[in-house]
Amino acid sequence: MASRIDSMSPEACRAYYAKIRSRSEARSAAIFNTAVAKALDPITAERDATPQEWVKAARAVRFPCGRCAGTGRFITGSLNGQPTGPGGDCFRCNGTGAQDDHDVRRNEEHDKHYIARHAFA
Ligand SMILES: [Zn+2]
Repeated sequence: MASRIDSMSPEACRAYYAKIRSRSEARSAAIFNTAVAKALDPITAERDATPQEWVKAARAVRFPCGRCAGTGRFITGSLNGQPTGPGGDCFRCNGTGAQDDHDVRRNEEHDKHYIARHAFA
């Protein structure tokens, strides 16, 4: 199945990879790289992964959601270090407790519109 990524140059792949990494929920670049490399294990056991494969893995890898601390539940406060609240689904990760690049981009869009709406109200 061909995708937009398959037609990207290695240079474009590197730039896109860096962008995905910088906006991800991973706590550091090293943690991000390690998780992507692990996702590529089935490929790299046989051969080097292509830049396109690195980008695809980078988009799919998931990290614990910073908003709900990986619980998937909406948190309204904390008591003795434990999250408390009515506990609906966390809207940042859709209740999964982890975010991939698709979730991160959806949240960025939400934040942009939210800020635009409230900054000039
Ligand atoms: Zn969450």
